[in-house]
Amino acid sequence: MTGGALDAVVVGSGPNGLAAAITLARAGRSVRVYEAAATIGGGTRTQELTLPGFRHDVCATIVPLAAASPFFRSIDLAARGAALVQPDAPVAHALDGGRAAVLERSIEATALGFTDATDGRAWRRLLGPLVRDAEKLGEELLGPVLHRPRHPIALARLGLPGLFPATGLTRAVFRGEDVRALFGSLSAHSMIDLGRPLSASFGLVLGLYAHAVGWPLVRGGTAALSDALVAELLDLGGQIETGRPVTSLAELPPSRVVLLDVTPRAALAIAGKRLPDRTRRAYERFRYGSGVFKLDWALDGPVPWASDGARRTATVHLGGTLGEIAASEHEVARGGHPQRPFVILVQYDPWDPSRAPAGKATAWAYCHVPSGSTVDMTDRIEAQVERFAPGFRDRILGRAVHAPAAMEAHDPNYIGGDINAGIQDIRQLIFRPRLALDPYWTGAPGLYLCSSSTPPGGGVHGMAGFHAAQSALRREFR
Ligand SMILES: Cc1cc2nc3c(=O)[nH]c(=O)nc-3n(C[C@H](O)[C@H](O)[C@H](O)COP(=O)(O)OP(=O)(O)OC[C@H]3O[C@@H](n4cnc5c(N)ncnc54)[C@H](O)[C@@H]3O)c2cc1C
Repeated sequence: MTGGALDAVVVGSGPNGLAAAITLARAGRSVRVYEAAATIGGGTRTQELTLPGFRHDVCATIVPLAAASPFFRSIDLAARGAALVQPDAPVAHALDGGRAAVLERSIEATALGFTDATDGRAWRRLLGPLVRDAEKLGEELLGPVLHRPRHPIALARLGLPGLFPATGLTRAVFRGEDVRALFGSLSAHSMIDLGRPLSASFGLVLGLYAHAVGWPLVRGGTAALSDALVAELLDLGGQIETGRPVTSLAELPPSRVVLLDVTPRAALAIAGKRLPDRTRRAYERFRYGSGVFKLDWALDGPVPWASDGARRTATVHLGGTLGEIAASEHEVARGGHPQRPFVILVQYDPWDPSRAPAGKATAWAYCHVPSGSTVDMTDRIEAQVERFAPGFRDRILGRAVHAPAAMEAHDPNYIGGDINAGIQDIRQLIFRPRLALDPYWTGAPGLYLCSSSTPPGGGVHGMAGFHAAQSALRREFR
């Protein structure tokens, strides 16, 4: 580590900001992180939002991308107090009539669970080769989209079907209502209209990781992950200051590089004058997507599911058939609020009893809403849960509500409630945040963007921070 002026300053302590800081510190660079909030972690914070003793993940909670991430794998998470816990199966899609389609860890077990045997064969054909090539695909997927592929055949097996709209691919490949709804609900994590190109790629990637690494949660809450990153950074000599919102580069101490774990909109406010015109125009054009309306519950016991399948997974998708899910996401994309929204629910019982007092439970759910929506979706979300878990409402002891504005107040990167810090449609997946061979460098000497507004986009993986730091090390510290 060098004395005197800092080598690097990182603004924002989300997983990408901390990953950037750790990567620089590992290269022997002095680094300080400035975080606006009183607590570190950005989208990986855990708080008692409802009642004393009930711990809730305010944002991220299921972390397959952390399990797959080469950056997170470089840290002994369990030794740092952040044990990843695997539920019995990664994800279920609840259906009417007390049924559920379950995505199991094994492809074979998943395939055997579908009502139509031809769907089992189709699932094996579609997902099997991807899961076999999961390691190779990780190298291609968890970094800049524009690159020379090291594994072009593996990438083509994912990329070609992934180019399709989720509704089109699902109807072409699968026959049964159960598997169609399951694949459609995986694709709906894209937060774009399921009739749009590339929405199928989210179903494929999330399905691939469900089989390859599972959909784990973090024992005690996702905050344990950021605590682990902080411990790693402090051991390397890095520094962190919380309660330090940065509004201008002029407020920062002298350093050779600055990495911003913020959105392009915030980068314009913080560094506008330093940005080249081309970058400024691109950041002004950068688009933010739909928001989320999120509920956290303190419950008087586990969710009373009608189906056994929904009891076996931490993540349960609710929303009926593929047609219903697609209609819900289409309506949100057009600025509407579906009466029966597609809902993503997460429960922790019985895998992590530390989140609630004995005999009680916590759960978390959100639905998609138009950016900045002020419509209260509480009743509609709870009606969807009640539809598949009769008696659920009677178990609610306390509730916390995060509408898009509250989500943005919690973390300014979630503009209008957009949890991915920028819509992930075909254009912004490829040119994220702008058309450039190095998407992390702003074009201004020593200034980088490292948030999920850069590749590989949303999720707890730290890979945007890792790649941004690598870019800075290559360019500024030769
Ligand atoms: C409701 C919700 C549910 C989610 N669920 C999941 C999930 O289950 N699994 C998953 O993988 N991902 C999930 N995500 C997404 C995930 O949380 C994010 O993609 C991830 O946290 C992005 O990391 P980041 O480091 O880019 O930014 P963030 O985690 O958003 O961190 C940015 C940090 O920068 C700070 N900051 C911003 N501006 C400034 C400034 N001017 N000065 C100082 N500090 C500043 C912020 O306070 C924040 O701490 C979810 C997000 C939300 C909101």
